[in-house]
Amino acid sequence: MSEQQQYDVVVIGAGPAGYHAAIRAAQLGMKVACIDAALGKDGKPALGGTCLRVGCIPSKALLDSSHQYHNLTHSFEQHGISVKDAKMDVAKMVARKDAIVKQFTGGIAMLFKANKVTPYYGFGQLQPGNVIKVKQHDGSEVELKGANVIIAAGSDSIELPFARFDGENIVDNVGALDFTEVPKRLAVIGAGVIGLELGSVWKRLGAEVTILEALPDFLPAADAEVGKLAAREFKKEGLNILLGAKVGKTEVSGKGKKQEVVISYSDKHGEKTLTVDKLLVAVGRRAASKGLLAEGTGVQLNERGQIVVDDHCHTGVDGVWAIGDCVRGPMLAHKGFEEGIAVAELIAGLPGHVNFDTIPYVIYTAPEIAWVGKTEQQLKAEGVPYKTGSFPFAAVGRAVAMAEPTGFAKVIAHAETDRVLGLHLIGPNVSELVHEGVLTMEFNGSADDLARICHAHPSLSEAIHDAAMAVDKRAIHKAN
Ligand code: FAD
Ligand code: NAD
Repeated sequence: MSEQQQYDVVVIGAGPAGYHAAIRAAQLGMKVACIDAALGKDGKPALGGTCLRVGCIPSKALLDSSHQYHNLTHSFEQHGISVKDAKMDVAKMVARKDAIVKQFTGGIAMLFKANKVTPYYGFGQLQPGNVIKVKQHDGSEVELKGANVIIAAGSDSIELPFARFDGENIVDNVGALDFTEVPKRLAVIGAGVIGLELGSVWKRLGAEVTILEALPDFLPAADAEVGKLAAREFKKEGLNILLGAKVGKTEVSGKGKKQEVVISYSDKHGEKTLTVDKLLVAVGRRAASKGLLAEGTGVQLNERGQIVVDDHCHTGVDGVWAIGDCVRGPMLAHKGFEEGIAVAELIAGLPGHVNFDTIPYVIYTAPEIAWVGKTEQQLKAEGVPYKTGSFPFAAVGRAVAMAEPTGFAKVIAHAETDRVLGLHLIGPNVSELVHEGVLTMEFNGSADDLARICHAHPSLSEAIHDAAMAVDKRAIHKAN
């Protein structure tokens, strides 16, 4: 064991939460180390966490490739563009995704260098007294001590006892981002964000996709009107979504390329089986707290294995903080970004804060789904008086010119104060448009504020402008 290395801040985990915390702390003049255990596909250390290696970025790369292919084969014709014998080279698509991952994981290493953050490549375990023992990939051990320690260990896929991952036939996101060919039949357990996004990728490329969701409702977190339209559109796209489907057993049969997965499930129609070539299990993620804490650190885990923290991400143990997917709150990269920055600033004695009420949610399907703030069903349950204004993309010149008229914008405002309480969107590029709602809500703006702000014409943002005007029944481009 080498001599103990001293730092102002030691961060465990270089995912979105951890690398933001490390870089911000370094910017604020602290001596920072950041430990990460992950290896890339090439077996070399890869910073950036789930998000950059096997999450947000690679999934969006495949979503984009498959969207281009789908447009080429389904919508270019209406523009007068005809193509014969369009083909998808899956190996090339996956190689492009891998190159993007390498570019961005390498980018974090460069940012660490530029900001003088010292990376340690290996597994870190917190000991009592803010000491971290790091088992490095070369087998050596190093001990770091931080005046402050920020735990940003992230999350892992939840495995179902009756559908164990084998990396080949039954996979999680990691496997489903790396299929070498389009599976003829793909089943997904879980109609959540990963199921819908990765299900869409392989459906667009020609797979027959069946999604088995245990709950009776589709997308219960989204506004009910958005969920209803999404269900209709995904059905049109050919995604077969079975609600209230409870899987009891899976079995891999056959040999070599002929292997199949037989899934036994029950729904309101009784017991059924489904046979597919690949099964993606996407039933949520759990905090990666295994092996992270030695005896006696004082850091508490809750019943879900998450590290217990207060509103400021402090664990209650002097100088120990935790952020990102390994603590409460939505498992989103940008939530981790904000917590990382907030904690670094709190350590530096600055005011650091994350507003959970204005975190945007996006699902990168086609049409895209995005929202910020409360849904109608939440406001009803809370007894908050509200009014709404909606506007369809079918009446937005830009959306029609793009041949993407599906969807709408809905603004929800307080019935008495007019303050914007939520923005709900389904349609083209709404992953970008949702920030108009985030900004309005962050500045306590009203529907009237949104309605009086000049929006470029023609632009997709006009849907939000007219929806805001519709709150007061004064939309120009539709009957109120
Ligand atoms: P992670 O990104 O999980 O990073 C934690 C890091 O810590 C990992 O590199 C891990 O190896 C390392 N680590 C853990 N324990 C130790 C230890 N003891 N010692 C050393 N290193 C350790 N979110 C979005 O906002 N938008 C999206 O579009 C989106 N798409 C997604 C798509 C998929 C397929 C998946 C799986 C997730 C997606 N997410 C998305 C979620 C997002 O990836 C996570 O919310 C985000 O990565 C969490 O960041 P984090 O820093 O908390 O943890
Ligand atoms: P999720 O929580 O979004 O969805 C899991 C789904 O699986 C739920 O609908 C749940 O009811 C269902 N389910 C659970 N157990 C089941 C069972 N036994 N049988 C059938 N269905 C079952 O989780 P996910 O899709 O795995 O994604 C994990 C995390 O990654 C999420 O927290 C999400 O926020 C994040 N993520 C975000 C994005 C994005 O922001 N665009 C994309 C992908 C992932």
